[in-house]
Order: sequence, then C-alpha cells, then structure tokens
Amino acid sequence: MAIVKTIQISEGAVKLKIPDPKKYRLTAQSPAFYNTAMTSNRDISILLLKVFFGNRKFNALDLLSATGARALRIKKEIPQAVVLANDAKKSAFALIKQNVKLNKLKIKITNDFAWDLLMGSKGFDYIDLDPFGTPVPFLDAVVQKLNPNGILAITATDTTVLCGAEYKACVRRYKARPARNYLMHEVGVRILAKYVIETGLKHKLFLKPIFSQSTRHYMRIYFKAVKDFQPTKQIKLWKGFGPIWLGRLWDADLVEKMHELSIKDKFISDETKNLLYKIALEAKIPTVGFFDLTAMKLKQVPKLSDSISKLQEKGYQSTRTHFSPTGIRTNAKESEFDKILRSLG
Ligand code: SAH
Repeated sequence: MAIVKTIQISEGAVKLKIPDPKKYRLTAQSPAFYNTAMTSNRDISILLLKVFFGNRKFNALDLLSATGARALRIKKEIPQAVVLANDAKKSAFALIKQNVKLNKLKIKITNDFAWDLLMGSKGFDYIDLDPFGTPVPFLDAVVQKLNPNGILAITATDTTVLCGAEYKACVRRYKARPARNYLMHEVGVRILAKYVIETGLKHKLFLKPIFSQSTRHYMRIYFKAVKDFQPTKQIKLWKGFGPIWLGRLWDADLVEKMHELSIKDKFISDETKNLLYKIALEAKIPTVGFFDLTAMKLKQVPKLSDSISKLQEKGYQSTRTHFSPTGIRTNAKESEFDKILRSLG
C-alpha cells in the first residue's frame, strides 16, 4: 500500500492526521475522507451525546469513520463512551490507527464492510451513519442494531435528490415527491425522516426525530429509539409533496441544553453556536413549513427582523428558520401572516 502523505491538524479536543489536501482531492477516492466543513456537524454530535447520555456509559459505533475524526472526538470529549471506529478502506483504517495512537485513546478499530460488522455485532447505544451521498443502502442493517433508547445519527449528502433537483431519483430512492421551492430543505429533511422511520418500522423499531438540520450540502437527523410511539399517523402527503414526516423535527428541551452547553465549551465553533441559537428558537414553534419573504411577491420586501417583531407584537410566535435566510417560522395562519406583512411593505 502506498504511503499516504498527511498533515496534522486539530479539531475539537483532538489532533488529527489527515491526507494532505494539496496532494489528494476531497472525493470518495481520497485515502481517508476529511472535510473541514463538517466540523460543525461533528460538534453537534458531541453536544447531543453529552446532553443525552450525561454521565452514563454508552456504546458508540462510528460506522464509516474515514480518518476517525468523529470517533476520536467522542472518546476524548466524552471519556466514559466505549467507542468503535470502522472503515472498509485499508488506507482509512491505517490512518484511524495512527490517529488513535497520536491521541493516546482507547478505541476499538475494525476494517470491515458495514453490513458484515453490523450483522456480527450485538448492538449499540449510538450509531453514526455518515456516508458519501445517500444513507439508504445502509439503513436496514443499521436499524437492526440500535439498542432500545439508543440514538441513531444519519447524514445525507444527496441533497440535490432530496431537494427536488432530481425529482425522479427522489421518488425512486425515498418513495416521496420532493419540493422545488423555498420549502425544499425542510421538505427534504422530512422526506429523509419519513424514510428512516419507515425503515425502522419494518424492523419493529420506533424512531423519533430529536434533532434535525440542513446545512450547505448535507442534511442530518438524530433519532431516538422509543417505545409507545406511533409514527405512522404522522406520515402523510403535504401540499402535494411527500409523503413526509409531519411530526416534530426537534426535542426543544434537548436543543436548548445543547445550545447552553455550546456556549461554555471552548472546543465548539462559532458556526455551531450560531446554528444552535437559531434552531433552539425555531424548535419551540412546531409548525410544518414556514413562510418566506421572497415568495410573497411584495412590492417592497420588509426586513426580516421587522417582520418577526411585528408578528410577535400581534401575539404570534415567530422566529427565523435555519432552513432559509429569508424564512419566518410562525404559528400565524397564512392569511394573517400575509395581512401583517402587507401592512409593513
Ligand atoms: N464520518 C467521516 C466521513 C466518512 S466518509 C467523518 O466524519 O469525517 C465515508 C467513508 O465510508 C469512507 O472512508 C469510505 O471508505 C467508507 N465506506 C464506504 N462504504 C463502506 C462500507 N460498505 N463499509 C465500510 N466503510 C465504507
């Protein structure tokens, strides 16, 4: 095996050797994929696990670990976690090994294909599924190995499909019709949620979304495996899109605690803090969808902050949404929203 040229960086509380970005392009062909833009994504998983598990011990699986970035951070930043990092690629496996040594951490490493590893395992309290592109091919195996009350974290980077730029591919892959308008990111997340929840149901696992985000080129949802929960009632067509998940995308208390923790944590990036601030507010308004200033066809578009204040003055809950820079999440009805906005314009 050719020796991989690496550089050393730091992320969160760990040091990482990553393939030299001057020598290897950031594609699936990289000896071990590492994307700085995903730092915030990993920050959020750390905060969520800290809040959710507290001081409890838990078994975590980083199924597609690449450089080991996420697995290492979990072990270093949440020491009681029992962590397994896996990657089928030899060069990635070798790099994870180096990185574990570099940080002097106790982490188990395997070099298996995801299905083989999962099927031969006893199950985990946390499974992180962070693939290139769609998570769909891994889901049936993953949901069978999540322990009761465990957390499943799923990334999708096939956002062009989920957001309607490849309509037929979305129908084929996720069995749902995507949106191609200002709502496309939220509808995309809700399609992904629907698909994962349905996969869980096939295997008698009830998955409840507790945190969701759509950021740049990826979507990510965290689910909790719970009993006494009937998600099928909340999977429906909506405005001709879907079927989508119509239930909550966030556990508002959890997000608030994650945000509070992020402020005190010196390893968490500003990007993450800002995102959590926004999401903590929008999680308190459990509407499906939002309104968007650009979709209003107003002669003069009012400022977002003025519009939000005006709605609040009139007694409505109202805040920004992380799904769109010009969006407003509010419990006002469309006709009420329209009237208030036109009085401003
Ligand atoms: N989670 C990583 C990025 C993962 S990139 C991070 O946070 O940085 C996806 C990884 O999945 C690649 O390293 C690839 O080698 C690995 N992979 C792809 N298919 C796989 C399979 N079937 N089994 C195990 N690993 C696989």
